[in-house]
Amino acid sequence: MDIGSLPSYLAPGQMGAWAIYLEQIRRVLPYLGKLGSLAETLTHPKRIVIVDVPIRLDDGSMAHFEGYRVQHSTARGPGKGGVRFHQDVGLSDVMALAAWMSIKNAAVNVPFGGAKGGVRVDPAKLSLAELERLTRRYTSEINFMIGPDKDIPAPDVNTNEQIMAWMMDTYSMNQGRTLTGVVTGKPLSLGGSLGRRDATGRGVFVVAAETAKREKIDLASARCIIQGFGNVGSAAAKLFHAHGCKVIAVQTALGTIHSAAGLAPERLIEYQQRTGSILGFPGAETISAQDFWPLPCEFLVPAALEAQITAANAPKIRARIVVEGANGPTTPEADDILHERGILVVPDVIANAGGVTVSYFEWVQDFSSFFWSESEINARLDRIMLEALHAIWEVAARHRVSLRTATFIVACERILQARQLRGLYP
Ligand code: GLU
Repeated sequence: MDIGSLPSYLAPGQMGAWAIYLEQIRRVLPYLGKLGSLAETLTHPKRIVIVDVPIRLDDGSMAHFEGYRVQHSTARGPGKGGVRFHQDVGLSDVMALAAWMSIKNAAVNVPFGGAKGGVRVDPAKLSLAELERLTRRYTSEINFMIGPDKDIPAPDVNTNEQIMAWMMDTYSMNQGRTLTGVVTGKPLSLGGSLGRRDATGRGVFVVAAETAKREKIDLASARCIIQGFGNVGSAAAKLFHAHGCKVIAVQTALGTIHSAAGLAPERLIEYQQRTGSILGFPGAETISAQDFWPLPCEFLVPAALEAQITAANAPKIRARIVVEGANGPTTPEADDILHERGILVVPDVIANAGGVTVSYFEWVQDFSSFFWSESEINARLDRIMLEALHAIWEVAARHRVSLRTATFIVACERILQARQLRGLYP
């Protein structure tokens, strides 16, 4: 089986996050039994679209941005996954992120395949009107491939409820009717779901707390450090803090702050909104980016971008548990180092699945036009996350593998079983 060959559309040296994903697939192969003969399908994204997104800037000039939508697998249902606006996002990243959505959706057993989109843009450099034009043009360019029963985008890095509202409106205008279920993560007044905004962070906390119980770590005296203070990191921080766990350091692209006494997440969120940065937060000291990783703590939550925990910083990490809020934050080399050092990693494909799980609830609610209460949503979310986590622990113990490989075993089996039952067309 040819796993890991370079697709002709990725130039050598541009394998990026896709190389991480391929290595993860290689590691799961010995455990897939007969289904392993179908595993090559997991290394070929079903559909890749690259679009030009030209927009009129406020000064009257025109600018072009590169946009992507990748449907990695639709074996188990429509494509599903977020859209990221980031100046560094490239095809190999979107391919890997789409593939991780397939794994994640199968791991928590929601009836979706995996997809992801992205536009190579720094949205902070655009005005609100430019951002709207960019979002609408990108949506128009991928209009033919998305839809409530085809592929359902959602927020990801640097995209939010407003951007989902523009995407929903653009798609609906093109269809001639309002179809709220084409995207999830929408504002509440447009078919959004209660609990969606904090769902990823909530899921991160739920799996962290359950893992702590198992590892006999007392949450009330635990310490947590968080990389990334966007939607995921900040929501997780609030819940850790509410359960007595001290959030002693936060790192963002702009810098790192530390407080041995613990930071108050609600106030830090407000401070970041007001000043545009976490730096200078009263009561916290600024430390260097390298000094973040060796901080002794019970939980390290990477909640920013891919490949942040590498062979260079993994030997310095002094957390007991890494709970991956981001997608793909740990390279396979770093995974091995953490494993050897007895640091438990709860992988992204389960730890951050809370977001897409509530996206699934949102999609179901949109279809039925019947909306659930927040407590109903949170209870269902917690149940799905915990059931999936327990199943993964059981597989990890049975095969004596890491939680990541165990999650991949569960997920790949589900995807490949669907693939086998459907058969090959024609
Ligand atoms: N962007 C989120 C993720 O990476 C959510 C995707 C979704 O809700 O479809 O899981």
